[in-house]
Amino acid sequence: MNTTPLLEEISRRPLCCDGAMGTQLFARGLAAGQCGMLWNVNRPDAVAEIQQAYRNAGCHLLTTNSFGGTCFALEMHHLTDRVAELNRAAAEVARLAAGPTGWVLGDVGPFGGFLEPVGETTDEELREAFQAQISALAAGGVDAILLETMSDPAEVRVGMEAVRICSANLPIIATYAFQKTGVDEFRTMMGVTAAEAVRRSLADGADIVGANCGTALSLEDYVKLAEQLVAAAGSSPVIVQPNAGSPKMENGRIHYDATPAEMAANATRLLAAGVRIVGGCCGTTPSHLASVSRVVRAKSD
Ligand SMILES: [Zn+2]
Repeated sequence: MNTTPLLEEISRRPLCCDGAMGTQLFARGLAAGQCGMLWNVNRPDAVAEIQQAYRNAGCHLLTTNSFGGTCFALEMHHLTDRVAELNRAAAEVARLAAGPTGWVLGDVGPFGGFLEPVGETTDEELREAFQAQISALAAGGVDAILLETMSDPAEVRVGMEAVRICSANLPIIATYAFQKTGVDEFRTMMGVTAAEAVRRSLADGADIVGANCGTALSLEDYVKLAEQLVAAAGSSPVIVQPNAGSPKMENGRIHYDATPAEMAANATRLLAAGVRIVGGCCGTTPSHLASVSRVVRAKSD
């Protein structure tokens, strides 16, 4: 573990998180439909290479390769019996890549369904699933848990309950994926506004709140969204991990085309809006993050 507590550090200076993992795995030969988490044990060298590239780009925080790591998400790959193994390996690979001065965020994505009464999953079933994933990430040495790309504050609350069962003090970061639903209005897929998502997750125990990914948001939109998140978060730190601009369709494939320079200019505006951790989501690469981290580190080191 990094011996400098993350929350203490974030109160002193802004930090840079890393960028996309999935596209980097595909670039190294992961086939569509294959389980990327298997690479934590079958190709740990490839996962570590990606994380080292982000580390070399200047990212302070590295995210584990464990987005779809609940038994619910692993079910489609028939890997529900390997939750502990694949998540623990994810943490260990990232821990090595981060070195003694980097922080590792144990990545937890949505379970992929809906809680009762909209869906059929109970709080208790979901808590158990998150707990199995998070306890393995904690055993592998993560410095914090990142509940990301979320839409439902109730799912985040259950995730945070699971973190607290596993650890009394592991910091919790909760980030939501938003879409633009009106002039300067952003809501999750479940219809939750930015302010409401922040308020509910802070009340439920999140230490850091914010946004990642999102549907068709422009870089300009992320700045507006960041202003709303910071206003709602009060004195709590905010994290924003934008996509590399809004997605474009090209030959039937989604493509993100913001340049590293555009991402860096955006990071400057996010920091000015009061964001304390800037990273990247879909379409971002180590070269984007090298430009972003230069901006963050100019205010930080
Ligand atoms: Zn994304």
